[in-house]
Amino acid sequence: MNAWLDDAAADAALMNDFHAICAFGGRLSGSGQDTAAIAWALSRMRQIGGEAQRVQVPYDGWQAGPANLALAGHDQPLACRALLRSASTPPGGLEGELLDLGEGRTEDFERAGDAVRGKIVLVRHEYPFSPRHIHRRRKYDLAVERGATAFLIANPVPGGGLLSGSSGRPRGGAGIPAAYVDHATGMALARAAARGSARAHLRIEGREDESAMADLAILDIPGGTDSRIVISAHMDGHDLGTSALDNATGVAVALAAARALAPRLSAHTHGLRVCLFTAEEWALAGSRRYLADMDPVQRQSLKLNINLDTVGGDTRLTALISDFPALAGFVADAGVDAGVPVSTYLPLMPNSDHANFAAHGIPALRLVAGFDRPESAVNNILSPGDTQAVVQESELRTALRATCAMAWRGLTATQETLDALARR
Ligand SMILES: [Zn+2]
Repeated sequence: MNAWLDDAAADAALMNDFHAICAFGGRLSGSGQDTAAIAWALSRMRQIGGEAQRVQVPYDGWQAGPANLALAGHDQPLACRALLRSASTPPGGLEGELLDLGEGRTEDFERAGDAVRGKIVLVRHEYPFSPRHIHRRRKYDLAVERGATAFLIANPVPGGGLLSGSSGRPRGGAGIPAAYVDHATGMALARAAARGSARAHLRIEGREDESAMADLAILDIPGGTDSRIVISAHMDGHDLGTSALDNATGVAVALAAARALAPRLSAHTHGLRVCLFTAEEWALAGSRRYLADMDPVQRQSLKLNINLDTVGGDTRLTALISDFPALAGFVADAGVDAGVPVSTYLPLMPNSDHANFAAHGIPALRLVAGFDRPESAVNNILSPGDTQAVVQESELRTALRATCAMAWRGLTATQETLDALARR
C-alpha cells in the first residue's frame, strides 16, 4: 500500500550524505566548517529541483580563547571548556570559593539561597531528552540571577570527556564566566568543596565577533497552494566530535525526505520547504532570526514544522509536540502509515529550532531518538563521542520513513486539518 515509503526509506544517497556532512568536522558556527557544509547542502538541494537559496542572518558570534581551571594552591590544570558566549574573566583570571550544588536544579539553588552569592558554583549536566531535564542554560541563568561569580557544569558520565554547549548570553547581556568540566574534574572539585572552603581559579577568554553571519540553506518546492510544510534540521554543531548524532542525522534525513517527496508534489498538494539552519547551538539564533525577518504573509503560509534533530543513536523515536495537542493524533496516524511507532511528548521543549516556529503559532514538532533513554547512544551528544560510529544506518532509515509519512500527511491535508493542528 505504501510502496513509495519503502522506496523513500531505501534512498541510495542517505548514508553518503551522512558521512559527507560529518567529513566537514563538527561544524561549529563561526569555524568555516558550517559555511562549507551549507554550500555543499545547497548543491545537493539543487539536484532535487525547486528553488534553493542561501540566506544569511546575523547572530551574536563569539570566538573562544584560552580557558584554564585549577584548584587554588594546586598547579595541576583541570580539564575545562568555556561555554559558547561565556563572559570572560579578568585577564589574570578570577578566584573564588567553590559551591557544589549537585545537579543544580531550581530546588538546589533555592536550598543554597544566599550562599550562592560570590561563589564559583558547580552543577551537573543532565541527559537532555527526558521529562525531568533542566537545560544547561536555565541552570546558568539561575547562577547569574543568584549572584554566582562563575559557573562550572560537569559531565556526569565517567570517561565521557568534556562537553560543549552555549551559555545563551546575548551580546552585551549580563553574564558570568562559564565552563564545562569532565567527570573526573567534577569529582575532584566536589571532593575539595566537601572538605570545606575550597577555592578555585578560573580563566576564560573570549572574543566577540561583531560581524558574524549564519548561512542557511533553504529549498522551496511549490505545490498547488500557497501553503508550505516545512522540514528543518540544523547543520551546525560542536567541535569535540563530528556532530554526527546532533545533527548530521537530521540533515541527511531531511535531504533524503526532500528527494522522496519532491516528485510527489503536484497541483493537489501543498508546497514543501526544507530549511537547514545554523547557529542553532547558539540558543537557536539562526532560525529565530530567519522567522523574525520573514514577511508575515509568507510566515503564515508555513503550516507545519517537522524539525529533525538527533534522529539516530537509538531505535525509538519521539515527537516533541510543543503544546500542540492535535499533533499527537497526527503523529500517531503518520506512524501507522509508516509502520514506525512514534510516541509523543506534549510540553514545549525549547531545545531546537521547532521552538521558534511554535513561538509564531506554527504547529511544530521535533523528531528525536532516545527520548528518556539515557542508556542509549544518544548520550554521546555534545561530547567527543558524537561520531558516525554511534549511528546505525537502520536508525536513519526508520527516521526517514517516519519523516516522509508525517510530511506526506501534511502535504495532502485539507486547510481545515492544518488549521486544526494549530489550536492550542
Ligand atoms: Zn541539535
